[in-house]
Amino acid sequence: MKMHDVTGTIYEGMTVYKDKPEKQPKLNRVTNGYVTETRLEIDVHTGTHIDAPLHMVVDGDTFESIPMESLVGQCKVLDLTNVEDGISKADLEKFEIQKSDFVLFKTKNSFEDTFNFDFIYLAQDGAEYLSEIGIRGVGIDTLGIERSQEGHPTHKTLFANEIIIIEGLRLKEVEQGDYFMVAAPLKLTGTDASPARVLLFEGLQ
Ligand SMILES: [Zn+2]
Repeated sequence: MKMHDVTGTIYEGMTVYKDKPEKQPKLNRVTNGYVTETRLEIDVHTGTHIDAPLHMVVDGDTFESIPMESLVGQCKVLDLTNVEDGISKADLEKFEIQKSDFVLFKTKNSFEDTFNFDFIYLAQDGAEYLSEIGIRGVGIDTLGIERSQEGHPTHKTLFANEIIIIEGLRLKEVEQGDYFMVAAPLKLTGTDASPARVLLFEGLQ
């Protein structure tokens, strides 16, 4: 059984959204010579993470509303490395995406380690298409599912249709295909997101 860890590493100096210094994690290590404890100060959207509706919807559901049952199970990695801008309905129609699928987009983003302000994102018509199908969730290989579209239509369309959003995946080493996914966030409550460890297994049903 082969496992792929598609999680970004969290460290001071890591890639953060729009390179904003205030989004850097802080690891404050304190030691008295024999006992060491590190205090971690972190934005919940750091590295590989899962968004909750509250992130973009006023009074939206908070993180504990996302059931673990939806984060563990089969998923499909789709190769979209040919896409140059927004992932559109036309780009997605080439795949056999079905109801309740969890789809992960492997794009050019996976081959970049620094923040690219022109990252590949999910366009509004792509989000609408996925909502019509009724997928379970969608993951992307950069720190945002949309770039800076006015009114955040991609997030809002997905949240309105109860589609889970994972951001910050690292899919360079993963081929297109079917995998068993374990996306395990911190068990946070009341928040708008949580960092997550995301593992893909080959040959597990
Ligand atoms: Zn986020």
